[in-house]
Amino acid sequence: MADCDFDAIVVGAGCAGSVAAYELAKAGKSVLVVERGNSAGAKNMTGGRLYAHALKEVFPDCYTEAPFERRITHERISMMTPNSNMTIDFGSTEMEVAGQESYSVLRADFDPWLAGKAEDAGAEFIYGIAVESLLMEDGRVKGIKAGEDEITAEVVLLCDGVNSLLTEAAVGYKRPDASQIAVGIKQVIALPAGTIEDRVLAAEGDGAAWLFVGDCTRGRVGGGFMYTNKESISLGLVATISDVAAGPVPVYQMLEDFKNHPSVAPLIKGGKVVEHSGHMVPEGGLSMMPPLCADGVLIAGESAMMCLNLGYMVRGMDFAIAAGQHAGRTAAEALAAGDTSKVALASYQKALEENFVLKDLRQFSKFPHFMENCTRLFNEYPVLTRELMNGMFIVDGSPMKPLKQQGLAAVKNVGIFNLVGDAMKGMKAL
Ligand SMILES: Cc1cc2nc3c(=O)[nH]c(=O)nc-3n(C[C@H](O)[C@H](O)[C@H](O)COP(=O)(O)OP(=O)(O)OC[C@H]3O[C@@H](n4cnc5c(N)ncnc54)[C@H](O)[C@@H]3O)c2cc1C
Repeated sequence: MADCDFDAIVVGAGCAGSVAAYELAKAGKSVLVVERGNSAGAKNMTGGRLYAHALKEVFPDCYTEAPFERRITHERISMMTPNSNMTIDFGSTEMEVAGQESYSVLRADFDPWLAGKAEDAGAEFIYGIAVESLLMEDGRVKGIKAGEDEITAEVVLLCDGVNSLLTEAAVGYKRPDASQIAVGIKQVIALPAGTIEDRVLAAEGDGAAWLFVGDCTRGRVGGGFMYTNKESISLGLVATISDVAAGPVPVYQMLEDFKNHPSVAPLIKGGKVVEHSGHMVPEGGLSMMPPLCADGVLIAGESAMMCLNLGYMVRGMDFAIAAGQHAGRTAAEALAAGDTSKVALASYQKALEENFVLKDLRQFSKFPHFMENCTRLFNEYPVLTRELMNGMFIVDGSPMKPLKQQGLAAVKNVGIFNLVGDAMKGMKAL
């Protein structure tokens, strides 16, 4: 294509987009990033924990430079009913080893830092403009259309996040159905640093990642989350759209009830809500991934559905960063070779196959199906856990039954075959 306005256009200044733009600019290519928000991060949402390994590959100095909130040194998982909560708390010095750490982040700070890195490398950013469609020529992508403007490029990188209409147009991908997409809702609640450390029992600067299952989504498919930031707590929940739509409780009410749960209310007591956000989350894993390239176009991050929710961990940002890095590098190499056809860009997929992105998504490809179908995980198993724990810990003067007898009575309510079957299916999916 002769006389393009830019070598590359990146749509979206999230994790994938800014890293892709950084790689392209670093390679000396002219690159324009178009972001619909008024600043990087203005429209973005995460729960908030970033596994730092992928960022370290792009910016080795990220540990001292990036606006991380707290290093995560406690992992907590809770099974919750309306009147109980059983929590596993895990801490390990291994979480502090370079390359293995994770940090809580706030996108309003993190995304501008990432975009700044790309800008410093030479990328141009325009904000407040949504890309409405792609310019096509002889079946290949040749640029973007935003408002009255048509801007051309040798290659376009779609990093526009979940629910991308542009991905659909670029590779003819059918959008996922409501059972494969969840809705996420979150509040950031301001609290003094010392109060947060006292409440989650963490050292200064450290914090917790806490995932909940059960009553937080009123027994529907999904879960709650809590991440500690420097001077705030991110609290929210994720629930599958088709399941929430079929249930009686809207997500905003679920969040209010979650905040008032006896195990959560003391953590956020006295805090002030300073941010409220909602976003979609792709939950279908590898099965919903579109083709990753076509003539003149590459797709990275959540616009390619690169997200993994395993119940005990949520990942998307490290996938987006690594995919952005490889998409940017592949595009730069293709530009240098003067060929941005689908064949030339296919090495992007190969690079992702060889690193953790596609390996991990493939490894857990059966999990979304398991989670969707094992509804007992969200209602009957938290109740079972409560019954077992009540039996163990409550002493009221009446003769105590043997633990075995109490356990069997609680398990009977769920059904031993259901329990064993679900455990086996869960093991296979993980
Ligand atoms: C509730 C919730 C909890 C999560 N928890 C975690 C977690 O703890 N850890 C983790 O790793 N991941 C988590 N994720 C997933 C993670 O946030 C995403 O995977 C990640 O942000 C994807 O990055 P991205 O760059 O692909 O997309 P995004 O960060 O969504 O960026 C896309 C960008 O494109 C812009 N854009 C969209 N359309 C257009 C357009 N037409 N024109 C111009 N610009 C456009 C958007 O404004 C946005 O800036 C969570 C997600 C949610 C919703």
